Amino acid sequence: MKNSNGVKQSQLANKTLREAPKDEESVNAILLTRAGFIDKLGAGIYSFLPLGLRVLRKIENIIRQEMAAIGGQEILMPAMHPKEYWEKTGRWESLDVMFKLKGMGDKDYGLGSTHEEIVTPVAKKVILSYKDLPMALFQIQTKFRNEARAKSGLLRGREFSMKDLYSFHADQKDLDQYYEQATEAYFKVFTRCGLKTYLTAASGGSFSKYSHEFQVVSPAGEDTIFICSNCENFAINKEIKVENPKCPQCGGMGFEEAKAIEVGNIFKLGTRFSEPFELKFKKEDGQEDLVIMGCYGIGPSRVMGAIVEINNDDKGIIWPESVAPYKVHLLALGDDKKVKKTADELYEKLAEANIEVLYDDRSLPAGAKFAEADLIGIPYRLVISEKTLAKDSVELKKRYKEETELIKIDKIVEMMK
Ligand code: ATP
Ligand code: MG
Repeated sequence: MKNSNGVKQSQLANKTLREAPKDEESVNAILLTRAGFIDKLGAGIYSFLPLGLRVLRKIENIIRQEMAAIGGQEILMPAMHPKEYWEKTGRWESLDVMFKLKGMGDKDYGLGSTHEEIVTPVAKKVILSYKDLPMALFQIQTKFRNEARAKSGLLRGREFSMKDLYSFHADQKDLDQYYEQATEAYFKVFTRCGLKTYLTAASGGSFSKYSHEFQVVSPAGEDTIFICSNCENFAINKEIKVENPKCPQCGGMGFEEAKAIEVGNIFKLGTRFSEPFELKFKKEDGQEDLVIMGCYGIGPSRVMGAIVEINNDDKGIIWPESVAPYKVHLLALGDDKKVKKTADELYEKLAEANIEVLYDDRSLPAGAKFAEADLIGIPYRLVISEKTLAKDSVELKKRYKEETELIKIDKIVEMMK
């Protein structure tokens, strides 16, 4: 069937593995590889297979919606950067994660690890006067970083997906306001992805005391954070934590230590980049001034890895519905013709009703189908067998629950909506 809402497993580029791949250590890489979502090409370099790409795109689209909601305009910048842009800020030498390569005529290029040096000259073309401010530009793009350690699957790629938004302002007050809005938008993104995040004060603000990271508590995390016992969702990164620290938000001194994954990071850049690139605007009084900037990053592929680290059991992945590759996993059991026909029809009906459905139409033993369904982790499993058909029903099971229930076949499409 040609319908983007559904796919038959017999036709899907997906083969699950019983065993963990030998060259992976992290939970996310092991489960995503076994379930056939990703395929490793080299350390920190992965292909996204059909199921994996659907998850990644869902995460990206959540981010896209929330960035648009705070006025972000989507653009796409090159991944390949002539050296001159990076020399202007001194980062050609100082950014040690940059992949560098030679082009024709011995010309030097860097592969983009971040895009301040590229977006600032772009902004210069579209920001002329105060009337053009504020402005926010973002992209969702592949980034490259020559990471020393790439053993954490999607959590630390050498090639990975990043959403980077850059904001441009006439003054500090406007940046401060926008930064608050962006913080709220980030919380919305992560909540929609099913992740509880802590706003974490960290070093790295070139224009303010702190930058802010969004951290997800997980033993797989490489960061250590101190969670404020008073505040609902505030923490301090260990790197900056001074002796006898106070929470920058409430002034409290009680903390709980935890390992965490950094899924987002926002910075006030001030004039760090507008100065070297002379990004200026004409003020109302006719004078010129430097544009004030902020930057805001999220790693969609790292978010995907973090979701798997947190949502799994001994059988496999448990996707939150908002990012699951499909909402429903329909399993037809046995070779009975009537079972097959009913399942085929239900598959069509679900897809027509815009319910995303993965249909296991293969001839495999029930046990193998159940094990694969648990590994892949789709939120709702529907089973049709001779037994359920005898009661004009399908069996419904939520991935995170043990109980099953029988639902009349003519009720199930409406119920899944
Ligand atoms: P880390 O400290 O983990 O190396 P970073 O602080 O260097 O990350 P940023 O430059 O702040 O990362 O990048 C913005 C976001 O991009 C991060 O919050 C993270 O979600 C994502 N990200 C950064 N590096 C990687 C990577 N190697 N693989 C996957 N995602 C990454
Ligand atoms: Mg960071």
